[in-house]
This record gives sequence, C-alpha cells and structure tokens, in this order.
Amino acid sequence: MKSLCVMGSTGSIGTQTLQIVDQFPEHFEVLALTAGKNLDLLKQQVARYEPRYVVVSEASDAEMIQIWYPGLKVLCGREGLEAVAALEQADLIVMGILGFAALAPTLAAVRAGKDVALANKESIITAGSLLQSEIARSKGHCIPVDSEHNALYQLLQGRERKEIRSLILTASGGPLLSQPDLPLEAVTPELAVKHPRWSMGPKISVDSATLMNKGLELIEAHILFNFPAKDIEVWIHPQSLVHGALCFRDNSYIAQFNKPDMRCSIGYAMAYPERLDEVIPSLSFKDMSFWSRTKGGSRHSDWPAKLSLVAQATWWLSTH
Ligand code: NDP
Repeated sequence: MKSLCVMGSTGSIGTQTLQIVDQFPEHFEVLALTAGKNLDLLKQQVARYEPRYVVVSEASDAEMIQIWYPGLKVLCGREGLEAVAALEQADLIVMGILGFAALAPTLAAVRAGKDVALANKESIITAGSLLQSEIARSKGHCIPVDSEHNALYQLLQGRERKEIRSLILTASGGPLLSQPDLPLEAVTPELAVKHPRWSMGPKISVDSATLMNKGLELIEAHILFNFPAKDIEVWIHPQSLVHGALCFRDNSYIAQFNKPDMRCSIGYAMAYPERLDEVIPSLSFKDMSFWSRTKGGSRHSDWPAKLSLVAQATWWLSTH
C-alpha cells in the first residue's frame, strides 16, 4: 500500500491518478490532495478519498474548507504545497500541477527523498539542471509521466549510453494535422483543444496543436536523459500508439507502445518498480497495422522544419 500526495488533483493528470486509485484500492491510499481553485471538484474528492491533508491556492478558500471539514488539515499557497510534498508519511508524490508553480513542491519532494511521478514539464524545462542535481542526490526516484518520456524511461532501464545512437519521441501532430485547408484564422480555441487521441488539460492541448509541446518535450528529453538535441528525433505518428523508441548503434530499434491513454504512463510511475495488472485495455494486431497511416493531407508537410524552429525558439527561451 502506497500513500499518495496527488498534487493538482482537480486537473487532467490528477483525476486520472485518482481513477487508478479507484482501480487498485489495495495498492494506493490518498494522503493529500492539492488543487488550485476548483473547490467543487475538490470537495467531491475529499468526500470520496478522505485524505488527511488538503492544499488550495487561496487562504480564504482554505478557511472555508476547514469549516466544511474540521478534521482535515488544510493548508494554502506555496508553503502548503511544499509541506505536503515532503510529508513523512508520503510514499509517492504525483506532480500534476500546471506550470511553474510545480517547481518548488517538486524540489521539496526530491530533497525529502520522496519518489516523484513527475507529469509537470515546466519545472523540468525551467530548472532542469537544478532538478537533475537534486534528483542525483536524492534517495527517491523521479519517474517521468509524460507519455513519451515515460516510454523512454522504460526503454532505457538496464541500457548503457554507448549502445544507443538516438532517442525517438513520437508526435501525433495534434488536432489540426489532417486539416491542411483550414486557415489559421479559422482555428478556434475549441478546435485547438479537440485532440483526436489524447484527453488533456487545455494548455497542453493548445501547445500540442501549435507543436510547441513537442519542442518542450525535446528539451525535456534532453534534460532527463542527458542526450544532446542532435541525438533526439521526432517522428510523426498520428495514431499515438508508439510513444517512444530507441535506435541502437547498429540501427536496430526497440519501441514502447500502448493505447493512447495517460493512465498507462501514470500507473507505471505510481507502481514503479512493480507493474499493475491491466491498467488499460490491451492492443490487438489490427490496432497496430494502422500505425503510420495519415488521413487526408497533412498541414505539417514542412513539419520537421517547423518543429526545428519551435525547438530552437524554446531552447533559446530556456537558456536566456
Ligand atoms: P490541468 O490544467 O488539467 O490541471 C492542472 C492542475 O494544477 C489543476 O489541479 C489546477 O487546479 C492545478 N493548478 C494550476 N495552477 C496552480 C497553481 N498556481 N498552484 C497550485 N495548483 C495549480 O493540467 P494537466 O493535468 O493537463 O497538466 C498538468 C501538468 O502535466 C502540465 O505540466 C502538463 O504539461 C503535464 N502533462 C499533462 C498531460 C495530460 O495528459 N494532461 C500529459 C503530459 C504532461 P484547479 O483546476 O483546481 O485550479
């Protein structure tokens, strides 16, 4: 039984983490939940999972929740997040907070020697070298949850750097890949977040539509696995079945694949170093036979060039 702090419990990663807790109640219990402003959902989660700690962004919200649940320890703001991330009773911190706000609690968890299932990419990109040096000192593990990096983490287990020529990240191409005739002015926020394969929060969905997300992921892979950008490739794969692959020196490849469902990567990180049974449905050979077909034309016929520009821009931003 692992005691979890689910940070960002009201978001896409957080709610899927709690679905896994529902699936495997014999393996996980919820020690703490943290949210930003979605108090309605948080209230439902507190009633269902009965955590001992809750953290919200605003002090006034914390006071209100304390009145609703007098037995609960309610904290707020950055100090609250850092405190629960380092709780002695916590076995695993699932970091699903969006944006830079995740950095301080992630560092607090790593410094406290906790295992961290790290979904948040902004903390890796903004403070990669600091985070990596703290992870190297920590007695806990930091397991990436982002599906491509989770795939590479799985593939790299037991491998030596000298065996590998390159890392391969896959990219679905986002919701606009198959609509080459749609002028950009006609792309509404609703269209941009309507991802054909993944159900994610709004920010990462828009980043996926603009390809910014893949640029960020390239930097994330560089930091997490210490590979130079020139040895990290990105392949378009609209079916999102293959999440990552390794190319060995002899041009032999191995790939990690599963249905596009974040619960697979989240579940892997939650159970590490064990594995859970049938977290998501299995694949059939029929699913796999379609894995490189693109419907219609592609908006991104010049995709690698665009990606390279996005990656360069994000790289520049992250280093200045
Ligand atoms: P969501 O927007 O769905 O959820 C974000 C969560 O963080 C919510 O619980 C929100 O609270 C909370 N939050 C937001 N701002 C703050 C803040 N300043 N302080 C405290 N809590 C805050 O995002 P996602 O779940 O999609 O993404 C979370 C992270 O995981 C991102 O870094 C994303 O890039 C990464 N990721 C997500 C994937 C996905 O499939 N969703 C895949 C791979 C990576 P509230 O809603 O209550 O305000």
